[in-house]
Amino acid sequence: METGIAVLSSRVSVGRVIYLDHAASTPVDARVLEAMMPFFAEHYGNPSGIHVQARASAQALEQSRREVAEILGCKPKEIVFTSCGTESDNLAIRGVAFAAAQAGKGRHIITSACEHHAVTHTIAQLCENFGFQQTVIPVDRWGMVDPADVKRAIRSDTVLISIIYANNEVGTIQPLAAIGEIAREHGIPLHTDAVQAGGYLDLNVDRLNVDLLSLSGHKFYAPKGVGVLFVRAGIALLPQQTGGGHEGGRRAGTENVPYIVGLAKALKLAQDMRPTENERLARLRDHLIQGIQVALPDAQLTGHPTQRLPHHASFVIPGVEANALLMHLDLAGICAASGSACNTGAAEPSDVLLAMGIPPQLALGALRLTLGRSTTAEDIETVLEVLPTVVRRLSTLQPR
Ligand code: PLP
Repeated sequence: METGIAVLSSRVSVGRVIYLDHAASTPVDARVLEAMMPFFAEHYGNPSGIHVQARASAQALEQSRREVAEILGCKPKEIVFTSCGTESDNLAIRGVAFAAAQAGKGRHIITSACEHHAVTHTIAQLCENFGFQQTVIPVDRWGMVDPADVKRAIRSDTVLISIIYANNEVGTIQPLAAIGEIAREHGIPLHTDAVQAGGYLDLNVDRLNVDLLSLSGHKFYAPKGVGVLFVRAGIALLPQQTGGGHEGGRRAGTENVPYIVGLAKALKLAQDMRPTENERLARLRDHLIQGIQVALPDAQLTGHPTQRLPHHASFVIPGVEANALLMHLDLAGICAASGSACNTGAAEPSDVLLAMGIPPQLALGALRLTLGRSTTAEDIETVLEVLPTVVRRLSTLQPR
């Protein structure tokens, strides 16, 4: 008898698929899966216990913590393992905000206009329900924050600055180190959502001048459902999940040992592969961008032309509605996205694109193509053949 999952996977099996949605999620690397396997049924002890099985889990957990800390250039005890990037963002923002408010330091948060919903919705809730105020720093037409604007926004009651490292929708990389310098001069903690940067950019927290940094495993070939929050020693953080004293008392709950082992392995692999893989991806990505610009001269690249993630190509295409475009690409065996995974399906223009000054109607025609380890030069050629045809067909069908 076929299981439900088998039926489902046979239905969605469409042969060779060109997967260009790595910013949404990545497949688990075989080496990562191999590292994880012993921690499901062989070494299954609770890492908090006092026996041989518990010790095996605890050792793997602490080894993973050391490996992640080494990549971030921090102390192992500054690493908190979480269930995902969203949780890391929530814990950073709410944890710092509540601790600061409790200490009477203030209730003002600075953020940018190009954050993920895991940040914007968390800060909005603090403002709507807990008496916080926010200043949202505008971005330029490339989605870039000006550090001088951050400096101007600082008030005596500012308790947190949260600025994304690299944007998920348009790939723009923010000048974090400069923003961090300003934050440090004023003694304000700087949090960064580095979820999209994890596999591709320098994560050294001292070079970046950050005090809190969020990562998510499934963006760099580890499984979905595991994340990291770096919390610099001395930063006051009120735990948001209470219970046992796990993760140095900052995040209660028995640690997901196999997934944490997988995350550490995947982060190490990604960072080791970074120099060569970034170059390969950027070459393919640039060819893709140039090809699209030649075939579809009306398509506008969104995000910064050079300060962008190496695997990230994003556009707005006039006269095309994103969901229709994605469906047609899907039928042609190409997996793409319009913006963040969370936005796909919504017929609303993205806040990030609007903040960059893109008109709402044009923002509805957003296309994001994010390359990955499996992407080949042939894949890019196929996309360059298929995409212009689909766009031309759709734009004659859709009213402008
Ligand atoms: N932050 C950014 C920039 C993201 O792109 C995502 C996911 O797409 C998240 C946070 C949320 O991460 P997770 O899916 O692990 O909750």
